[in-house]
Amino acid sequence: MKNSLFEMKRKIGYAFFPARCPFCDCVIKPSENLCQTCAKTVFPEETSVRIREDSSRGLIFLYPYDGRPKEAVRRLKFEGRKDLAVPLARLLWEQVQKSGIDFDLIVPVPMSRRKLRQRGYNQAQVLGEELARLSGIPWRSCLVHKDTKNDQHQLSARERSYWAERTYFGKGEENCRGKRILLIDDVYTTGSTIRACAKCLNEAGAACVFAAVLCKTERKN
Ligand SMILES: [Zn+2]
Repeated sequence: MKNSLFEMKRKIGYAFFPARCPFCDCVIKPSENLCQTCAKTVFPEETSVRIREDSSRGLIFLYPYDGRPKEAVRRLKFEGRKDLAVPLARLLWEQVQKSGIDFDLIVPVPMSRRKLRQRGYNQAQVLGEELARLSGIPWRSCLVHKDTKNDQHQLSARERSYWAERTYFGKGEENCRGKRILLIDDVYTTGSTIRACAKCLNEAGAACVFAAVLCKTERKN
C-alpha cells in the first residue's frame, strides 16, 4: 500500500501530494530539497571521505544523527514516509558528488524479511534507487539479510559486530566482480553493518567499497 501510494505520487505529480521538507515537514516546491528555514539551520557535514583501514574504503555522511536529521530518518523509517527519500537522496547525492569518489555500482544494505513485511519498504533500497536515478549509475541487490532474532539496538558494539558478520551474505557475485561499489544505508551507528556488508562485497570480488549514509552517530560503546 505504501509502495503504491509512493508510485501514485510520482505519476500524478505533486498537485495532490505536495513535496515536503524532510526536516520540518512543511510544503516545499518539488524542485527543492528542503525549506528555506531549514536550509539556513541544517548544514551538511564537511565532505571529506573518511578513509578507513578496514574492509570499507571510506564513509560519506550527510549529518550527525541528531536533531532534525534524526527526526527525518525517524519519519522515513517509522512513519511510512517513503516520499522523504526523494529530497534526502538528492541531498546525499550532492554530498557524494562533492566527495569526488568514483563508483560504478550502487548497493543498498538489505533488510530482514520480517522488517520488510512490517515496513513495506527498505529505506536504504529506496535511497539507492533514487541515487541510481539521479546519477545514472545502476543499483543492484548484491547482499542478503539472514533473519536473526536480535534487535541490534539492544546490543553492544562488540555484539553488533558479531551478529552483523552472521547476518549479511553476498549474492549474485558476478555483479560485484571488479566493481567500485557505493554501499547505501540510512544510519551508521557502530559501523558493524557497513563493515560486514563491505566484507561480503570484497569477498565477492569488488574492486573497492565506499559507503554513503544519511546520518552518523558518534557512539562510544
Ligand atoms: Zn524545513
